[in-house]
This record gives sequence, structure tokens and C-alpha cells, in this order.
Amino acid sequence: MTKKRGLLIVISGPSGVGKDTLIERLLELDSNLRYSVSCTTRPPRPGEVDGVDYSFVSRERFQQLIDQGAFLENATYNGNLYGTLTERVERERDAGHDVVLKIEVQGAEQVRAKAPDGVFIFIVPPSVDELVRRQVKRNTETSQDMTARRLIAMREMEYASRYDHVVVNDELERAVAEVLAIIRQARSSQT
Ligand code: 5GP
Repeated sequence: MTKKRGLLIVISGPSGVGKDTLIERLLELDSNLRYSVSCTTRPPRPGEVDGVDYSFVSRERFQQLIDQGAFLENATYNGNLYGTLTERVERERDAGHDVVLKIEVQGAEQVRAKAPDGVFIFIVPPSVDELVRRQVKRNTETSQDMTARRLIAMREMEYASRYDHVVVNDELERAVAEVLAIIRQARSSQT
């Protein structure tokens, strides 16, 4: 029997909502999931590893990749470029793995146009106050950068209704279980 092609799972949500931790847990709990490592022109944060968190590239290299048509989607976020390489995603899906993309809303729109059979999940905070608390706690950005990210977050929340599923990250394990249930449901209804 030929192996089923993997699912494309798109996870979006405002900065500070806890997407990173949630995705880490998903990957720990489900061995068929693979994380799509994006390219970005943003400088690495302390502790981020090239090739694991992101492929950190120059603007010139990013532009070359755009010109080559290498991206499934790409977008600008807070002045930096981010993109998903088609080849990485397709290789994993062909091997039967379900691929998780952690991308912002403009990129998700591009993926939806190309792959309407993807599973689109939007993560929201229990409240905006909580989001701000989490952003402050993370403390990796300058205050100017944080203000910009907060404004983007407010705008991003308006996109939630365009997603197939909206999951409230009120309690990590509960939210993880809900996302896993969505993924398993999508797998079982795959043709
Ligand atoms: P951060 O700088 O906090 O790592 O990411 C900023 C935003 O860019 C987040 O919403 C993150 O999900 C998004 N992002 C990360 N990689 C990609 C990508 O490849 N494409 C798009 N469109 N957004 C991305």
C-alpha cells in the first residue's frame, strides 16, 4: 500500500500567544509531525540555532530565493522577511509526515490559495491583557519592537475568523490536546 501524503498544518496567532511552546509540545507528543523551519532575515535571538529555529539568511539571499520561486509563501513582519521553502515541506509530506508551519497571517493567506486542503489553526490568548503579560515576560525584544509587535497582534486577531479552527491557549496542555484532536480528525478524514 502506498503511504498517504502528509497533511499541511498552518498555525498562526499573535506574537506572545505561546505558539512556540505549543508546537514544541505537539512535536513531542506526535512522532508523525515535522516542523517546517522557515527562512528569515531577522537576526537570531539569544539561544536560537541556525537550521533549527530558523535558517537565518541575508536579505540578498532571501531575494534570490524569491526570484527562484523557492517559497511556498513569504511575508514581511515588523520589517523582517520570513518564508517557507516549498521543497522542505513537500519532501516531508511525500514521506508521509504531517508538516507544521508556524506563520503569520499574510503567509497563511498565500498557503490557503495554494493548498486549500491544509488545516488552518489560529491560536488566541485568553485575553489581550494576558498577551501583553506574556510578551513582557519573554523580554527578548526592545520596547520599541514590543510596541510594534503588540500593534501587529491586535491587527492579526481580526484574521482569526478566516481559520478553520480557533484554539484558546488558556492552559498549555489543554490547548495542545485540542490541536492534536484537530490534527487527528483531519488525518482520519483524509482521502
Ligand atoms: P518571530 O520573529 O517572533 O520569530 O516571528 C514573527 C512572526 O513571523 C510570527 O508570527 C511567526 O509565526 C511568523 N513567521 C515565522 N516564520 C514564518 C514564515 O516562514 N512565513 C511567514 N509568513 N511568517 C512566519
